[in-house]
Amino acid sequence: MSESCANLSAVQELSITQYPNVLIAKIFENIAEGIMITDKNKRIVKVNAAFEFVTGYKKEEVIGGSPRILQSGIHEISFYLGMWEKIDEIGMWQGEIWNRRKTGDVYPEWLTIMAIKNDAGEVTNYCGIFTDLSERKIVEHELEKRTLLDTLTDVCNRFAYSERMNTLLESTSKMTQPAQHAVFILNLDRFKQINDTLGHAVGDQLLIEVSQRIKGLIKNKDILARYGGDEFVITLTNIVHPREAAKFAEQVIHVIEQPFIVDNHEIFITTSIGISIYPDDGMTTEELLNRAEKAMLFSKGNGRNCFSFYFDELNTDSKRVLLLDSELRKAIENREFTLAYQPKICVQTNKIVGVEALVRWTNDKLGFVSPAEFIEYAEETGLIIPLSEIIFDLACQGNMKLLNAGYTKIPIAINVSSIHFQQQGFLESIQTILERNNTSALNFEIEVTERTVMNNAVETVNKLVKLKLLGFKLSMDDFGTGYSSLSYLVKFPLDVLKIDQSFIQQICILADKQAIVDAIIQMAHRLNMKVVAEGVETKQQAALLKELGCDFIQGYYYSKPLPMDELFEFIQFWEIDHQERV
Ligand code: C2E
Ligand code: CA
Ligand code: CA
Repeated sequence: MSESCANLSAVQELSITQYPNVLIAKIFENIAEGIMITDKNKRIVKVNAAFEFVTGYKKEEVIGGSPRILQSGIHEISFYLGMWEKIDEIGMWQGEIWNRRKTGDVYPEWLTIMAIKNDAGEVTNYCGIFTDLSERKIVEHELEKRTLLDTLTDVCNRFAYSERMNTLLESTSKMTQPAQHAVFILNLDRFKQINDTLGHAVGDQLLIEVSQRIKGLIKNKDILARYGGDEFVITLTNIVHPREAAKFAEQVIHVIEQPFIVDNHEIFITTSIGISIYPDDGMTTEELLNRAEKAMLFSKGNGRNCFSFYFDELNTDSKRVLLLDSELRKAIENREFTLAYQPKICVQTNKIVGVEALVRWTNDKLGFVSPAEFIEYAEETGLIIPLSEIIFDLACQGNMKLLNAGYTKIPIAINVSSIHFQQQGFLESIQTILERNNTSALNFEIEVTERTVMNNAVETVNKLVKLKLLGFKLSMDDFGTGYSSLSYLVKFPLDVLKIDQSFIQQICILADKQAIVDAIIQMAHRLNMKVVAEGVETKQQAALLKELGCDFIQGYYYSKPLPMDELFEFIQFWEIDHQERV
């Protein structure tokens, strides 16, 4: 112990000038950092092996030349001016700089440049020592991406969304001019069904494509994030009016409605959207998200594939019913409804054989309200009677437009509510409307549901016969969902059976649904009825129905329900192009 101490104290510190040159040369050559020495005129006089390794240049290629050979072109000239200013001033500069290798690749390095001076204080050389940061950068980037980006879709994840929102709201609150932002929550409808039937890989790909379509609609300053599962969140910053948000929501619904092709499957998907507005609906990210979520759930309950703004009444269901009641009454008074028309196509001739009229209502406070919801409510309250009259009137006006345009063979099918149908004065009320509009029952078809018909079968037969005598064609809607007595079915003077969508949607997946559809078609034909398949969404479904002998097809595969002006466009397009389908 004492001996080693004695040895240690015997070691003499050498001054740098006393190091053997060979030792310094060894360190110079073997050190991991790249070293480049220039003369005072910034001509390269010496580089080490690490320099050669990192830059890809051999000594011979650079000695005598300028370090500018390494410049990447990324930095502005002011960056280099600042750097040299610092070296002149304090003899040293240190920082991150992007340089270019001989291969042309640009890479980041951590660089220290020192001015070497002689005893007189004059600069004789410059020495640059650098570490290649590219490996570290890749790791950092990956880490950053992993914590901020959603790994599947590459858009922000929920953490990044909250961060960006918090920053946005903080800076907005300091602004002197008031600003509004719109927060959207989008939830894909029936996504689980796709995952379950087509598998997770297809579901994942669908999510990627959905995010790309949305990305195409937003601007740089807006925020898009995947919030987990099939839910996305968007913030449109600095909107001038909530109308802008409504327009954007319509665009999103539209781009998502367009079919997706994933792994050779044609997939149709829709989305339900809820919207909250800063600052009216909340001052914090959490509050805004919470309210947008409530509005989104409202859209779901409202028939899906639509958007709703948050409104205070959303907080309780009973308040909503009160609002629906008062708004529906006002809407009936002001006749605020329109009809959308969905074409039915003949499988054999590919011609349009008719359209179904479907009522539409968009309300200032409630947004788009699904007919499934307000028809049911109108039935409960008796409002269905005046509403049905409005619908009939609108259908008569639509029929006039078709006739005036020369389309005489496109009857309009009208859905008749069971309450209206069972009313004492039902037949008289319809006759009055036809007369008032100066039109004939021959231009219309009446759709009654299986349940309506079976409710009071004896009386129904009488009414249906009278409608038939007036000239209406008769369809039984939603066939397969009620419990038809076959003995009555024979007695009803029906022209058409409409097979319910629930069978059609699974016809290609479930053998028993296909067998039921097959049996319904055979039976209907034996009873001299035609068959409409409704809710047909894919080419495969259409082809299979054709094979099974179905007569007419209705569904998104051919067309959504359309406003009258778009129906005209469809008819014109169809006359030219229909040969292409099925
Ligand atoms: P419905 O009579 O069975 O009408 C068909 C529904 O299926 C419509 O929904 C239509 O938009 C939708 N649909 C059509 N093709 C497809 C498809 O390919 N895929 C899917 N998923 N859906 C498709 P809508 O317009 O929301 O109407 C819902 C229900 O509300 C109607 O069912 C009907 O019972 C009632 N309704 C609609 N309009 C009226 C009306 O004017 N009067 C009465 N009384 N009821 C109506
Ligand atoms: Ca119908
Ligand atoms: Ca139906």
